[in-house]
Amino acid sequence: MEPSHENGHCDSCGRSNVVLYKLSLGHDFFDRPYDRLTSPGDLFPRWYCEECSREKDFQRDVRAIREEFVKLRCGHSSLLDPPSVFSRARLRIAEIDQSVKRGRGPHVILAPREVAHLLMELDSWAEEHDAGENGVKNETVSKG
Ligand SMILES: [Zn+2]
Repeated sequence: MEPSHENGHCDSCGRSNVVLYKLSLGHDFFDRPYDRLTSPGDLFPRWYCEECSREKDFQRDVRAIREEFVKLRCGHSSLLDPPSVFSRARLRIAEIDQSVKRGRGPHVILAPREVAHLLMELDSWAEEHDAGENGVKNETVSKG
């Protein structure tokens, strides 16, 4: 992601007077090239502040993982088939979940609820299918 110091505002939250990053999403969670900027629909380059570009990154991974998870659930071949990849994806979603929960107030791009929901689904899938091995044990934390 290339920072720019151009005067402008974030295309997502509208903040100005911040360092802006041109949106370039690189590779998604499954290491597939992800470049929305070259798609014909994206005629306007977008600029995001640091927080929004991080959220955008999260959103990209959440979408990619959810897409594959839907396939997995429907019994289609999915990139999440290998248990190790599934565990990794689950950890990534858990990490994103933590991050968006403790992040700033209103989330413009990614709804924390959306992430929490996906995490819940991944968790119950893992329980039902015993897909969460590889040392990734879900420890129950009791709330006080
Ligand atoms: Zn922003």
